[in-house]
Amino acid sequence: MWDVYAATGLTIRLPGELLAGLKEIVGESKVVKGDSVAAEPYCKDWTGQFTGTPIAVVRPESTAQVSAIVKLCQEHGTPMVPTGGRTGLCGGGVPTGSGCSIVVSLERMNAVCTVDVGARSITLGAGVILQTAQEQAREQGLAFPLTFGAQGSAMIGGVLSTNAGGSNVVKYGTTRELCIGIEAVLPDGSILNGLTGLRKDNTGYDLKDLLIGAEGTLGIITAAVFKLSPLPRVRTTGFMSLASLADAPAVLNALQDRTGGAVEAYEYMSAAAVEVICREFPETHLPLDAPAETGVFFEVASSRQDDAEAGEDGETRLQHLVFEVLETLMEAGTVLDAMIAQSEQQRIDLWSMRESILEAITANGPAYHMDIALPLASVAEFVTTMDSAVTDMGFVPLTVGHLGDGNLHYALSAAEGKEWTDLPLTRAKEQAFALLMRLNGSFSAEHGIGQSKLDVMRNLKQASQLNAMRKIKQALDPGGLMNPGKFIPKEAS
Ligand SMILES: Cc1cc2nc3c(=O)[nH]c(=O)nc-3n(C[C@H](O)[C@H](O)[C@H](O)COP(=O)(O)OP(=O)(O)OC[C@H]3O[C@@H](n4cnc5c(N)ncnc54)[C@H](O)[C@@H]3O)c2cc1C
Repeated sequence: MWDVYAATGLTIRLPGELLAGLKEIVGESKVVKGDSVAAEPYCKDWTGQFTGTPIAVVRPESTAQVSAIVKLCQEHGTPMVPTGGRTGLCGGGVPTGSGCSIVVSLERMNAVCTVDVGARSITLGAGVILQTAQEQAREQGLAFPLTFGAQGSAMIGGVLSTNAGGSNVVKYGTTRELCIGIEAVLPDGSILNGLTGLRKDNTGYDLKDLLIGAEGTLGIITAAVFKLSPLPRVRTTGFMSLASLADAPAVLNALQDRTGGAVEAYEYMSAAAVEVICREFPETHLPLDAPAETGVFFEVASSRQDDAEAGEDGETRLQHLVFEVLETLMEAGTVLDAMIAQSEQQRIDLWSMRESILEAITANGPAYHMDIALPLASVAEFVTTMDSAVTDMGFVPLTVGHLGDGNLHYALSAAEGKEWTDLPLTRAKEQAFALLMRLNGSFSAEHGIGQSKLDVMRNLKQASQLNAMRKIKQALDPGGLMNPGKFIPKEAS
């Protein structure tokens, strides 16, 4: 039995049996047709660049329901697009324009949010919002340290599937390093139950690690267990102007050495990026009197009681340690100027400035975003060489980055008076990626591949690695129904 289904600009034939089957699994109200108003939010992502209309959106609330959905879709040969908060920046969580897939939204799988204080772990359903997980841990005196601008919307399944990073990776690692157990539905509908919370498990291939960062192409993650950390008792947050980006690794190491590895965030903010933030968000407080050509926003945090104790001058030991480092580096001429937040409000202002960059660049006009990783020692070479090259081409580079782990968000925007469409973007990209490869960098540090980086993946990923990935995909998802058109580029014909 077939229904005729009209979506924007296309008409496809929809198996009525499939819709009826989905409704039987999750209930009538939890399935909406792809061309309905209720489905609209699922047809585009945060960037607004990626849109597509599915046959239907289905919202399961249990792992058993997800498994039944996957089995049903397999029977019908229907592609599935798992989706969370759709804050991913590469078009992974929305259907491609083909109009023949089902969107499986995990948003209702948010009931499980349990802290095990003794084991210092948290078990989370795939639909739990990242910020909720952070708050839940904090209430128990522990920290779920993953932090980034979209934490109010991103969901655990999406965060795992993109192996999200963010500002605290320098201390705690990426999502992969925090995850100690996973539950998922594989493409054949079987349930992989690995919510063990084990810190060690060498019993074969690590399927958990295979699913993390797979962007929904190898199965649907339904829940996971994560490590928690001691909640910091004290923080010192500030902003400094460096004489040279080449000195940034040495400055980071000096801070780490003096504070016992307590640096939680070490973020590069170029003067041009800060200027755009101030223009788009005029309420932004400039941290230093003069614009910093090489600005670094940093946060040092400690859970040690003695670091939190204040001396006679009212300053904590941690603050003293940071002051000492800054003083030495200023005497050496490595740090030109610096400020330390004197209140929680000043700290929040610094974080707001850092986190508003993506929105500021988006509001500023067209831009091409690169999310790249480099060996720390090569960051300065990349930035200096490319800044000069792209400026000559008529671009303004708006660069911020998680400098502590060598991750740059290198965005190209049009210089004043230049038309975006007239600029040689292809040439700039080719030059940037060639330099990146020469410096042993990565063309996708933390945002993933999705739809937007398929070409780059095809051109730059080692052939042997791509082949191995295709074999894994073929073995687990022979019908290619899990999030097709994303992540793994088709072989050139
Ligand atoms: C303002 C802003 C700042 C950001 N900053 C950072 C940052 O600093 N660091 C960083 O790493 N990222 C950052 N991101 C992007 C980040 O990748 C996403 O915010 C997040 O990780 C994705 O979660 P989501 O729930 O929105 O997933 P979605 O966008 O819905 O999906 C992302 C991918 O995961 C898949 N997926 C979703 N749920 C599941 C599931 N349950 N099982 C299997 N596959 C699934 C989707 O199919 C898609 O391929 C930022 C985004 C924004 C908008």
